[in-house]
Amino acid sequence: MTDFIDDVQVEQLLDKLHKLKHELDDEVDSLKHTAEPVKLDQQAFGRVSRGEALQQQNMAKANLGQCQERIRQVEEALRKIDSEDYGYCDSCGDEISLARLHAKPESPLCIGCQEQQEQS
Ligand SMILES: [Zn+2]
Repeated sequence: MTDFIDDVQVEQLLDKLHKLKHELDDEVDSLKHTAEPVKLDQQAFGRVSRGEALQQQNMAKANLGQCQERIRQVEEALRKIDSEDYGYCDSCGDEISLARLHAKPESPLCIGCQEQQEQS
């Protein structure tokens, strides 16, 4: 196993990843529902105008994309735990701090690389 993370930590992180995946799956389900094509039938929306409905739909689509990206990261993290290379930055190969892993167990990058990526 990744040598700087002990078995207890791995168990905790695995647990978090499974819970996170479950939450994200639920969220994707409900977002998919909101992101469905807007029907012209005004009654379907009640008092919500078509414009508002479209806006909600676009937001749901954006959130959906983010959720799906996070699910991909969670699955990747689970795969890495299996192959025992979890906890190392995808970009620079350094150890990702345990504090960061506990806060964001699906994170594929160390804090330094993450910040760099967000700036570029
Ligand atoms: Zn890094």
